Amino acid sequence: MRELMEKIQRLKKERDAVILAHYYVDGAVQEAADYVGDSYYLSKKAAESPCKTILFCGVEFMGESAKILSPEKTVIMADAEADCPMAHMVTPLDVEKVRAAYDDLAVVCYINSTAQTKACSDVCVTSSNAERVVKALAQKHIFFIPDGNLGRNLADKISEKHFIFHTGYCCVHQDIMPYHVQEAMQEYPGAKVLVHPECSPQVVALADYAGSTSGILEYARKSDAQEFIVCTETGMFYNLQKENPHKKFYAVKKHQVCDDMKKITLEKVERALRQGTPMELDETLMEQARGALRRMHEIAR
Ligand code: SF4
Repeated sequence: MRELMEKIQRLKKERDAVILAHYYVDGAVQEAADYVGDSYYLSKKAAESPCKTILFCGVEFMGESAKILSPEKTVIMADAEADCPMAHMVTPLDVEKVRAAYDDLAVVCYINSTAQTKACSDVCVTSSNAERVVKALAQKHIFFIPDGNLGRNLADKISEKHFIFHTGYCCVHQDIMPYHVQEAMQEYPGAKVLVHPECSPQVVALADYAGSTSGILEYARKSDAQEFIVCTETGMFYNLQKENPHKKFYAVKKHQVCDDMKKITLEKVERALRQGTPMELDETLMEQARGALRRMHEIAR
C-alpha cells in the first residue's frame, strides 16, 4: 500500500495532476487525494486548480462538471465505469413537457445529473447550496430534477415557490426507512441523528440535523454530543471518525453503500494516472451545460 501511494504521488507530479475525491469513496482513496469533499467543493477545486490534469475519484457527472468548467484541462476518471444511476433518471423530454406547461418556470437541476440534463436546465444546485440558489431565483415555478426527495425536502423550507417534482432518487438514501432510524434510536438512545436530504422527508423529519455531507461533518465536529446515527453513505465514516476520534458513529442500517463509488480503488487511481483516457465531451453540449453550472457558482458565491 505504501509503495502504491508513493507511485501515485510520483505519477501525479509527472502528469501535473490534482487528485479530487468524494467523501463516499474508500478511505484509502481519500488518503491519496489532494482534496476531499462534496460535489460543490470539488467542482470549485477543479476550476481553481492550476494543474493541467484533474484525476477524479468519483462518479461520471463529477468529472463532466469539471470538464465543462475547465475545458482546457485534461480530466481523467479513476474508474470510467463509476456512474450515478440517479443522474440518468431524467431525460430532456421530461424537461420539455414541463416547460410547455408553465410560463414562469425555472428548471433546477441537482448537480447529480448528466451533461445533457444540465444543458436543458436553467441552474444547477448541490445539496449544500440548493436552498440559497432556489430562493434567489425570480421564477415562481420550480421544476426540480432528478431527485424527488431532495426536491421535497427543499420545498418544505421554501413555501413561496411552487415545486414540481421529478421521480428520480438515490437508491442508497431512498432505502433508508423511518423504521431503520427509529430502531437505531432505540439501540443508541441519546445519539444525534444525522441525515442527508436525499433521504425521504419522513426520514428527514426524524433528524437532529439534515444537510449535505459537508454540513454533516461540520455538525458532528461542532456538536457536544458524543454519539451519532449516520443516515448517508458509509464512506462518510472515514472523515467523521478521523476528525472526531473520540466520538462514536453508527450506521443507521446494514448496507448503506454506493456500489459505483466503491468501484474506485487505489490500484485504479494509479492505473488512471498512468494510462487513463481523457474525458471527451461535445463542445456545443459543454457550452450549453456551462450556463447552469456557472449560474449556480455565481448565486452560491
Ligand atoms: S450515493 Fe446515490 S446520488 Fe451519490 S453517486 Fe451513489 S447513487 Fe448517485
